[in-house]
Order: sequence, then C-alpha cells, then structure tokens
Amino acid sequence: MRLSRGVDPVDLVNRSPGDGWPVRRRIAHRVNLLANEVDQRLGCQTDDQYLAAVAAQVTGGGIQLSSDMGPCHSCRAVLRLFLQHFPLVNCTVTYRKTNGRGEPVAALTPAGGRLCGAYGYEDAPEVNGLWCTVLA
Ligand SMILES: [Zn+2]
Repeated sequence: MRLSRGVDPVDLVNRSPGDGWPVRRRIAHRVNLLANEVDQRLGCQTDDQYLAAVAAQVTGGGIQLSSDMGPCHSCRAVLRLFLQHFPLVNCTVTYRKTNGRGEPVAALTPAGGRLCGAYGYEDAPEVNGLWCTVLA
C-alpha cells in the first residue's frame, strides 16, 4: 500500500526506531517521519514554505466532521486555523441534539464540572435533527 504521494507507510514503520517506546511516542515519531517525507517531496525548508506549497495545491473542497458532541474550544481553534490556511475549503460540522440518555443538548453546551469552555457553536441551526454549522 502506498499513500497518495508515493510514501510507503511500511517503509516509514521499518525506519522507525523505538522498540520499547510507548505507543504514543512511536506514533508521534512516525507522524514526524511522514511530515519530513512530505516536506522533502515538496522541497520545503520552513513551515511557511510548506503552507504555501500545500495551499497552492488545495483549490477548493469541503470537509464534513460529525461527532456526538460539538467541538471543544481547542478543536474550534484548530478548525479556525485550518480554514485560515486553506480559505478555499469549507467545513461542515454536525453533532447530536441529544445525549446518550436521549436528553436534549443545547447547540453550545457548557463543559461543566471543573472544566471551562463549552462544546459546539452557539448559532448552529438544526439540520436533519442534528446541530449543523458550516465554517468557511
Ligand atoms: Zn476538542
């Protein structure tokens, strides 16, 4: 199996050191190797060069994210940053209007407990029984 840009994931795994490393560290290492491979193929030396090279190839499209809960403040920030980098892409986020017990859930739900922040988008309309917002 090869990834779309010709990177062989088996080769990446074989090149990964870390027998005895925790799984998260091995995965992070493999992600770094993959990112290095992409940078090398694009001829990038900096993050700005990488973003420019990728943005030049992304000429539009949409992403659909679906979740039980609305995105937390951290996920919302990542989505916002992604869409800043790829302004020709839009993102549709849908999440449930009820929790696992069938109780209604507000479009923007406070995290509760000792957690700060909230999940979802305050202005998300209902679409087909789900909260749904389109980010662009
Ligand atoms: Zn999150």
